[in-house]
Amino acid sequence: MSIREIEELFAKDLHELGCLIKAEKIVTFSINAHINYSNVCETKCKICAYHRKKQFTLSVDEVVSEALKAVKAGATELHIVGSHNPELGIEYFEEIFRRISSQCSATIKALTAAEVHYYAKKEKMSVREFLSRLKSAGLKILAGGGAEILVDSVRKEICPRKCNSEEWLRVMRIAHENGIKSNATMLFGHVESKRHRAIHLYKLRKLQEKTGGFLAFIPLPFHPEETEYSFKPSPVDILKTIAVSRLVLSNFRAIKAYWVMLGLELAEIALSYGANDLDGTVGYERIAHSAGAKTPVGLPAEDLIRLIRNANKIPAERDAFFNILRVYEDREVRICE
Ligand code: SF4
Repeated sequence: MSIREIEELFAKDLHELGCLIKAEKIVTFSINAHINYSNVCETKCKICAYHRKKQFTLSVDEVVSEALKAVKAGATELHIVGSHNPELGIEYFEEIFRRISSQCSATIKALTAAEVHYYAKKEKMSVREFLSRLKSAGLKILAGGGAEILVDSVRKEICPRKCNSEEWLRVMRIAHENGIKSNATMLFGHVESKRHRAIHLYKLRKLQEKTGGFLAFIPLPFHPEETEYSFKPSPVDILKTIAVSRLVLSNFRAIKAYWVMLGLELAEIALSYGANDLDGTVGYERIAHSAGAKTPVGLPAEDLIRLIRNANKIPAERDAFFNILRVYEDREVRICE
């Protein structure tokens, strides 16, 4: 699929896009926890509200304790991301990952490609060496953030000090080559055009063809509160973007309706437009809520199951690698071995 063909998909109306999508019956979610270790950030992106909030940095003990508390409550996936904090380095992350993985079997999904690029550079290490040390400490999956829009003219406007698009893709390629899976995001609905979104999706599809290392794609609608912008994508634009993502990224296992940023109603509708995963129970999330997300800070699994059933789909709990653990068929629960 060419960039031009992807642009043409964006020009279709929502109904037409809906008709092109092969509906999946099963929608997955995980029992997970989002842990944000710090918001102290020297990159200061214009799109970011998170770094403008009261500054905090969790100690290693605090991150480990939040993680173990979440695991005790059932979490199988720990999503640990933060900022570009000049006071932190590889040893902080190594200790966190080592201590968590020695005490539980939950999958550590942590750091975006932008964070990896920043901290490796700060430590004067190659990305390969940096990732290899974190893998030995227990890192299994990279988080998908920091991608924003993978077009440098857009990045120069919204996040001029963050890694450029080639650097972001390079970190992901090296991670995949070294056995670390990852997700990928796209933050849309700010200064970018539909062509920019098309280029972003095209680059991800191409990298996935080479490495096969991406698990899920997460389209993130921009929330402008406390940022330098006032743009906000409409619900129709959000649903169309999810539908186009599903059609273009047919080589990704999952397209997430990230309910934290979509809101619960739109997340439910998105399940009819190509989204086949709801992320998870999430727990205490700080980043999207800094930018004005009005959703609850966490949801019990029962609420996710109800939401999926309301969309006339079959809920299934998955692990961080998208292996199905339990299918909630009718009112029965089937445990997958
Ligand atoms: S988006 Fe990330 S890198 Fe940019 S200012 Fe916010 S925390 Fe820092």
